[in-house]
Amino acid sequence: MMSLRDPLTGLFNRRYLEEALVLEFGRASRTDEGVGIIVGDLDHFKRLNDTYGHDGGDAALRAVAQVLVGNVRKGDIACRHGGEEFVLVLPGATLEQTRERADELRRTLAQLEVPFHGKMISPITMSIGVAVYPKHGSSPDAVLRQADKAMYQAKQNGRDRVVMAGTFQGVPD
Ligand code: GH3
Ligand code: MG
Ligand code: MG
Repeated sequence: MMSLRDPLTGLFNRRYLEEALVLEFGRASRTDEGVGIIVGDLDHFKRLNDTYGHDGGDAALRAVAQVLVGNVRKGDIACRHGGEEFVLVLPGATLEQTRERADELRRTLAQLEVPFHGKMISPITMSIGVAVYPKHGSSPDAVLRQADKAMYQAKQNGRDRVVMAGTFQGVPD
């Protein structure tokens, strides 16, 4: 049995996410509901590692994971997608609800201070892209790709912000 959890943060891993999305999209199509997807990538994380060391980076990743866990509700899925990238899945959420949750998460993270060897690691900010099934795609890959593109747009717009899929000029698929 391969693990479903990321060892550093305890969040679900990418493998679990992929299976969960297939199930959640299937369920959502039967009940005519949406599924909100939030993709977040920490800003300038390489610089944070350079400043505080790799262990400081790890402490920050664990603290971010705790914020994610504190931010999810029953039935939501919080994952570490890899590196310093995270995905939240909100079954039943509308576009507007997903956007609100993403901004709540963004604001909470920006306030976070992580104690590390007598110092405080801060600020920790995240660039976030939001997409929802079925509005932005009919498959997990398609919706994740739209959320990812929106996240890159958030980086380009100056980081520490939320961008909704389909609200900017992007490169066509
Ligand atoms: P951007 O705002 O554009 O996202 O800049 P960035 O520095 O966050 O992006 P980049 O992709 O250049 O660097 C990501 C860094 O995240 C580099 C890598 O060493 C670090 N990282 C990835 N996984 C881990 C981890 O498990 N622990 C630690 N400490 N660092 C990690
Ligand atoms: Mg980053
Ligand atoms: Mg990254």
